[in-house]
Amino acid sequence: MSLLVKNATLPSGKKSDILIEDSLISKMAPSITARTEEKIDASGKIALPGLINTHTHAAMTLFRGIGEDATLHDWLAAVRAVEVKVTPRQIRAGSALATAEMIRSGTTCFNDMYFFMDEVAEAVQESGMRAVLGYSMVDMGDVGKRKSELKICEQFIKDWQGKADGRISASVPPHSLYLCSKELLAASEALSKKYSVPLHIHLSETRKEVFDCLSAHKLRPVPYLDSLGLLSSRTIAAHCVWLTKEEVRLLANRKVSASLCPVSNMKLAGGAIAPLPEIQQLGMNVSLGTDGSASNDSLSMFETMKFLALSVKNARWDATAATAQQMLFAATEGGAAALGINAGALAAGKLADIILLDARAPNLVPAHNIAANLVYSAHAGNVTDSIINGKVVMRERKLLTLDEEKVVERAQKEAERLVA
Ligand SMILES: [Zn+2]
Repeated sequence: MSLLVKNATLPSGKKSDILIEDSLISKMAPSITARTEEKIDASGKIALPGLINTHTHAAMTLFRGIGEDATLHDWLAAVRAVEVKVTPRQIRAGSALATAEMIRSGTTCFNDMYFFMDEVAEAVQESGMRAVLGYSMVDMGDVGKRKSELKICEQFIKDWQGKADGRISASVPPHSLYLCSKELLAASEALSKKYSVPLHIHLSETRKEVFDCLSAHKLRPVPYLDSLGLLSSRTIAAHCVWLTKEEVRLLANRKVSASLCPVSNMKLAGGAIAPLPEIQQLGMNVSLGTDGSASNDSLSMFETMKFLALSVKNARWDATAATAQQMLFAATEGGAAALGINAGALAAGKLADIILLDARAPNLVPAHNIAANLVYSAHAGNVTDSIINGKVVMRERKLLTLDEEKVVERAQKEAERLVA
């Protein structure tokens, strides 16, 4: 399979052709002549590495609109009430809906933790997307449950690691330090190490989590996880809101990646935003996540980039505290580094995960500063084409891998069943 993308504009403003052979970008140059099976004329389009969403729960699209504008307590109760009833069939329908929304909004890879993960993996396989998937473990101190959770998680790794032409990889996701025992957390680290796969966990999302950890373990969340050996370059810590500078330093020293989820944090009114300036000063890798649709409610990484930059600027009374370049980096290279995948940049030898945006859309004109346009002006609807693993999955806004009408219809039907 070979594909030539002609005359694309890069975020730097320079023009380039992009030659893709099999799953990789093989050459980037201003004028490439090559006989390829497929050609895309990208004149008037901006090429970007596909956006990487490093924290979500894809199937939660079916809960979009449930428990809106309620207190955190009432929202949780409303979501849990449907979550306990959800069937594998519904997980499949919700995940398929999520893949359609993500492809349309320029996301080419996502990092997911949830349950009935075989269904999520099937949806990913069908969609053509890339994903890191893991069965989210919770034991609440129950020994029997711990054993069965670890077994399900490990089986998923054995079944799916490297599947779908290498687009699917597995992770070990203990849900959080408040839903997992010490023993489960330690066993999770051992499992992640055994298979050399990422360890994905929620960390310091709310102030209550910090207070509860302090009273239960006499340690703040980061030193607590460190005492259990959970912090390494394999670790992706979602949220990272309520951190002290010392905790950021420890996370940076252990080479943990942050997945910042500003939209979810603000929608649930957590009252704070991740300390991005300190996270960057101390050298911690930053990536971005949407979190699940129940707390966002969109899966758009364009919104995530803008919300993070704006919320940090505003909270610090400092318009230089976050930049468009930093947001683009976090949504692409930072995400790839967090997940340990060879993507996130337009360069020879990188995986061919590429999106094109309509540079002539009114909201992207003029082109004084393309990076700023992409972060502060662009929206999901500007994405016209998506290439993942060297294959075109969306062409001129038409999804090629999914029957979108059917996906939408099925999701609507299953969501209605869920609340009936
Ligand atoms: Zn989450």
